[in-house]
Amino acid sequence: MIGILRTADELRAWSRAARAAGQTVGLVPTLGALHAGHASLIRAARSRCHAVAVSIFVNPTQFGPNEDFARYPRTFDADCALAASVGADVVFAPSVEEMYPDGAATFVEVEGLGNRLDGASRPGHFRGVATIVAKLFAAAEADLAFFGQKDTAQVAVLRRMTADLRLATEIVVCPIVRESDGLALSSRNAYLNAEERRQAVALSRAIGVVESLAVHGQRSAATLIEAVQAVLGAEPLIRIDYIALVDWNTLEPLESATPGALFAIAAWVGATRLIDNVIF
Ligand code: AMP
Repeated sequence: MIGILRTADELRAWSRAARAAGQTVGLVPTLGALHAGHASLIRAARSRCHAVAVSIFVNPTQFGPNEDFARYPRTFDADCALAASVGADVVFAPSVEEMYPDGAATFVEVEGLGNRLDGASRPGHFRGVATIVAKLFAAAEADLAFFGQKDTAQVAVLRRMTADLRLATEIVVCPIVRESDGLALSSRNAYLNAEERRQAVALSRAIGVVESLAVHGQRSAATLIEAVQAVLGAEPLIRIDYIALVDWNTLEPLESATPGALFAIAAWVGATRLIDNVIF
């Protein structure tokens, strides 16, 4: 049985005990409904840190009023078993009241960056993400925190936050884990019906088209975006949210896919919003 911590003080005490014993501490923040993508982050943490905490918290402030907070998949027992099986030492699973105590009035806003890409489509989303991650970093006092490239705009926002707040936790970015047909693993894939699941693979197919165009020297934003529009437009259940070529640090649009550029897609497949990306 993996240790389960419920309060920020318990997490801090666990972390301080590990550090007092000369250990490094790794943190893997998640919303739960763990899959092989999360497992890869936990394994990366295990390989780089002595002590590993996985946080499981469906953070209400990062969900918009018409989003899926209430129905987000919650699979706590299976999550604990998976986390333990890939080397986590503890699970931090606080209540909403623990992370947002009565009267909570403090939020972290990353200006500019926080309103681009998913931040533009989901107003307030990155404010919620930055706020909860700042709270987790404050409680965990981790040396390293592990995030997936799948949520690539999130990584850009959190890097800016840690730099601006001079936080001591270093962000480590791990590659996207995919299904055998290419679809990026996501807890939200569970919402897809069979036909939506079949069409959803167009996102990763589109990313593949972008990669091969770029390899063949086609690097202009307009060309790459048009190619993705054609791939996604062929699927009747897909509605494009955004297709963007941006600088990965600033999330500002780029004309050409230069090294360090991020090509990102967000699209609705039926009622489910999925994302994918590639970094050049
Ligand atoms: P979530 O629970 O969806 O908030 O994800 C928690 C962490 O797992 C985030 O850092 C995600 O980027 C990461 N993650 C989610 N899906 C994947 C994936 N398919 N491959 C790698 N990392 C992922």
